[in-house]
Amino acid sequence: MKLRTKGYDFFITKPNANETFDCNVCSTECDVKRNVDGFSGFIAAMARLSEIHDEFTCPNVNQEWHEQAVRLLMEIEKTPSKRIAALLKLDLEELLEEHLAL
Ligand SMILES: [Zn+2]
Repeated sequence: MKLRTKGYDFFITKPNANETFDCNVCSTECDVKRNVDGFSGFIAAMARLSEIHDEFTCPNVNQEWHEQAVRLLMEIEKTPSKRIAALLKLDLEELLEEHLAL
C-alpha cells in the first residue's frame, strides 16, 4: 500500500458532505469510506482528525503510474517556469492516456 497524498488522490470531508469526489490526478471517481472513526488509522492520526469523517481514495492509488502522475503534478505546481510546467503537463497527459481509457 502506497502512501495516499491528501488533496491529490485522497480527500477527507465531513460525513456525507460530498456525494462523490473525483481524483485530482486522473479524474477517476474515488472510492468512499463513510463515517470513519477519527481516532483510528494512521492517516487520520496524521491529519489530526478527531471526528467522524468520510474518506475518498482514488482506486488507482496503488498503481506505479499513478504515483508518477502525482509526482508530475507536484512538480507542475512547484516549478516557477511556464515552459517546464508545459513539458511536465505533456508528460502527465501522455501517462494518463496510456493508462486510462480516455
Ligand atoms: Zn487517481
